[in-house]
Order: sequence, then structure tokens, then C-alpha cells
Amino acid sequence: MKYPTLSQLDVAGKTVFVRVDFNVSLDEKGQIRDDARIVAALPTIKHLLQNNAKVVLASHLGRPKGKVDASLSLMPVAKRLAELLEEEVLFPDDCVGMSVKRLVKEMRTQRVVLLENLRFHEEEEKNDIAFSEQLASLADIYINDAFGALHRAHASTVGMVKHFKEKAIGFLVEKEVNVLSGLLYESKKPYVVVLGGAKVSDKIAVIEQLMNAADEILIGGGMAYTFLKAMGQNVGKSLVEDAKLGQAKRLIERARNKGIALRLPEDHLAAPEFSKDAQAQNITNKDNWDGLMGLDIGPKTLALYQERIKEAKTVFWNGPMGVYEFPAFQQGTLGVAQAMAQSNGFTVVGGGDSLAAVNQSADADKINHLSTGGGASLEFLEGKDLPGLKALL
Ligand code: AMP
Repeated sequence: MKYPTLSQLDVAGKTVFVRVDFNVSLDEKGQIRDDARIVAALPTIKHLLQNNAKVVLASHLGRPKGKVDASLSLMPVAKRLAELLEEEVLFPDDCVGMSVKRLVKEMRTQRVVLLENLRFHEEEEKNDIAFSEQLASLADIYINDAFGALHRAHASTVGMVKHFKEKAIGFLVEKEVNVLSGLLYESKKPYVVVLGGAKVSDKIAVIEQLMNAADEILIGGGMAYTFLKAMGQNVGKSLVEDAKLGQAKRLIERARNKGIALRLPEDHLAAPEFSKDAQAQNITNKDNWDGLMGLDIGPKTLALYQERIKEAKTVFWNGPMGVYEFPAFQQGTLGVAQAMAQSNGFTVVGGGDSLAAVNQSADADKINHLSTGGGASLEFLEGKDLPGLKALL
């Protein structure tokens, strides 16, 4: 491991600042929909408590745009964390300031405080120097266990880090980095990558990088239509990024030259409009697409993708195969989730939509690794130095 790890540090009697990713999704009543991100941080928090540290947790939640927004308070998270830990969790109404500093100073060891939403201050996302210093002044040791935030250069992930001599990644980040490094450098073959989602522009860099490791790339979702159009297919009113047609074409050619199977859907569920009430129509690439848009992969494509996933020795999946928010167009995404759970290979799923599909339709325990960071896992697989990791070196 190239990064310093938590187990190398002596934390006894120290105040430890832990950047966690408690960016959970909340329902209309402000209740937590899914506490997976809180659960994922427990090993680090428990280790610190068992080793007699004072634990200061900090996270962002949603996009409050630098202002206090009561609907994005971390209060529900503090409550849920207290239940999970079976310990009191102190919860001040800010993340910096005199009262927070006093609270942390007066805290005993083996106690936990969760600071209020970092993004209530615009200085967090601006990676502001003074704000970084204020955060850093709270603790002796810095731990980053917020995998989902590592690709952001913010005060809590980058700016404050240089103020610490003792700093490391937490257990969750260590696990994510180990698994994803394995995908980059030593995946068992055949290695199949399944990519979906709306836009091809978000995924071009990762596809390019994955061509160095993967044997097959299965494409679905809105991004498939830019590729299909680049190959000269008629895709009707489907989502297409015309500015990316040239790049899509080059990627197809590169895959062909490297002997990588870059597969695109052969049939689709299409509809005349983008609506949850639209009637799904199964059409192939050769059919007449006039007035139609593709909103999911079709059954033939799904069956082929499922077979490839099940036969793979390593599979990474990110991004829905269709507009899975509409019940008539969720078969592709749910079907891929099921195949992932049935695969005998080493399976990794990243991204909020794909994780939701796994939880909805498959046995999530059968997936080897559920990555807590969508954007961060893609950027890691692009081979980029994530700012939050680089800051620790
Ligand atoms: P992303 O954030 O890039 O992973 O994209 C996720 C979004 O892509 C989801 O909200 C899907 O509804 C959307 N999506 C998937 N397939 C399509 C499609 N064929 N046309 C339009 N949007 C799609």
C-alpha cells in the first residue's frame, strides 16, 4: 500500500479527525433511506474508540451551496450513528468556531463528536486556507475514510491535510483502494466491464484506461446511443452527444485494434417520449427508429450481457442500463444486477444507481465489493491520482 494506513498509527489519547462520507440519501421526511455509508465507516470509528482516541467526525451532506440549510443537517445521521455504535454521539451545530473547539477539547477519550455539515460553509468546497486551518486545529491526527469524496479537492479532503504530521487512510478507503487497484493491475481474466448511465462524456476517459486491463466492455444506458450513431446507426430521438461522436468512433476503432470486445446493445426498449407512462417497444438496431428514443437495453442484449457477466472471472459494473427510474425501463439494469450476484467471478459494483439496483433486485451479499463511491471509483480506475489520496503522501 503506497498510502499510510490507520493501523500504522498510535492513536491512544489523541484527538483524531476523520473525514467520513455520510452523504446519505434522505426521504421527504428527512429520514435516512439507506445507512450503508454510515455502516461502512464503523470499522474505523470502532478501532479508534477501542484504542482510546477522541473521535471527531466530519462530512458533507447534499449540496447546501455554502449556506445553512436545516433540511441538510447531519442530525439524522448523528442519531443513526449513535444507534449503530451504541454510544452517545455529540452533535454541535457547526463544524468550526470557538464552541466546537471547546467541545472537542473538553471531550474525554473514547467519545465521538460528529460535526455539522461541512458544506454549510462555502469555504469547504473552495478549499479555503483559513477554513482548512480552523478544521485542522481541532485534532492531532488526520484520517481520510471518505472514499466517495476523495476525487474532490476541498478543505476537509486536501486543504487541512498538510497541517498534520500523522495522517492516513481509514479502513474503508484502504479496502476500496485495494480492490480497485486489483482491477487496474491484476484482474483475473476474462475481465468484463459493464458501463451505463446517461452520458458518454463522463465515461470516455475511464473506457480508454480500462482498455489496458479489460477483455470486454459492455455498454448500455444513454451513452450507448452516441456509440451507435458514431457507427452510422439510426438512433431516432435517443440521447446523443454529437460533440463526442468523433471520440466514440476512435474508441471503437481502438478497441478493435486491441482485440477488446466493445459490445453495444443490439436491441432496445424504446418509446416515443421520455415519460414514466410511455409504452415500451422492443426494437433492434436495424428497425425504423423514427420518432422513438431508446430507454433501456432489450431482452436479447440483456441475455447476452448476463451470459458474459456470469462467465467472467472479474466484473466491474457502473451505471444503469436504462432509465431504471421508470418501471417499464428497468429490466436491463435489474437484470444486470441479478447477473452480477450470480456470477462466479470477482464482482465489483460502483455508483449510486447500480448499488440501488443491486439492493432492489439481487442478493447484495453475493457481490464481492460494493464501492461506496461512484465518481471516485471511476476516477480511480482512470488511473488518476485522486486529490484526497495525493494529499496524504
Ligand atoms: P449517470 O449519472 O451518468 O450514471 O446516469 C444515470 C442516469 O442515466 C439515470 O438517471 C438514468 O435514468 C439515465 N439513463 C440511462 N439510460 C438512459 C437512456 N437510454 N436515455 C436517457 N437517460 C438514460
